Amino acid sequence: MELPLFECSCARCQRACQKKPGWFRPGEIEKTAELLGISTKELFDKYLAIDHYMTKERPTFTYALSPATKHMKPGMEFDYVPAGECVFYQGGKCQIHGAKPYECAITDHSPNPDKKLHLRMVEEWDAEGPKKQIEELLGRPPHKDFGVGGVAMSLMNAPATAVAFFLLTLQHSRSFPILMNMMSPIRQMVVMRAMLERMELDQELMGEIDDGGTETDDGLDGLSWLRE
Ligand code: SF4
Repeated sequence: MELPLFECSCARCQRACQKKPGWFRPGEIEKTAELLGISTKELFDKYLAIDHYMTKERPTFTYALSPATKHMKPGMEFDYVPAGECVFYQGGKCQIHGAKPYECAITDHSPNPDKKLHLRMVEEWDAEGPKKQIEELLGRPPHKDFGVGGVAMSLMNAPATAVAFFLLTLQHSRSFPILMNMMSPIRQMVVMRAMLERMELDQELMGEIDDGGTETDDGLDGLSWLRE
């Protein structure tokens, strides 16, 4: 399907689009489907994917919807490492600019982004309604683990993971390596990936925009002016 192109020339935005698509908030994909003139199921099957989130503080998976990446099959869970160029990024522009995911909008355009945004979105996706919507779109519950694929991916990324582990060990408390040693290898990999994702989002995307900025107490709804 030929989609309209919208101007999106911000360099930071373009870097984010090439690296990892932002998350929708629950209830947002309907606007995107409307913009494209298709059903939410068709949108999901052709263009979206299910991202995952887990940390040692939140030891169960939370799932969220975002645009798929170009290297993956849409309409299913992301790979173990959900990185890559967004399917809606074409010719340096966002094809769904008028109904892009909330995380894309806040990351790229807010003068004062909320650094805990990602965690707040995790809480939103953890509610019963959004969980049910993801199951209905997928036609089954999302994967609870990454099995052989996750292990293979981790082995491929072994050098990068080792370096990241060393850096995180230096950055975080002395108890971090002890905790990691107590976990199973797969749990270690999932925790590492989740921590790297948080670091990436917090430091590279939001941090660049808001050096020394303050955190707001507005919550997600307090930032709704971004959509207006
Ligand atoms: S939806 Fe648009 S703004 Fe968000 S990552 Fe994709 S191309 Fe970029």
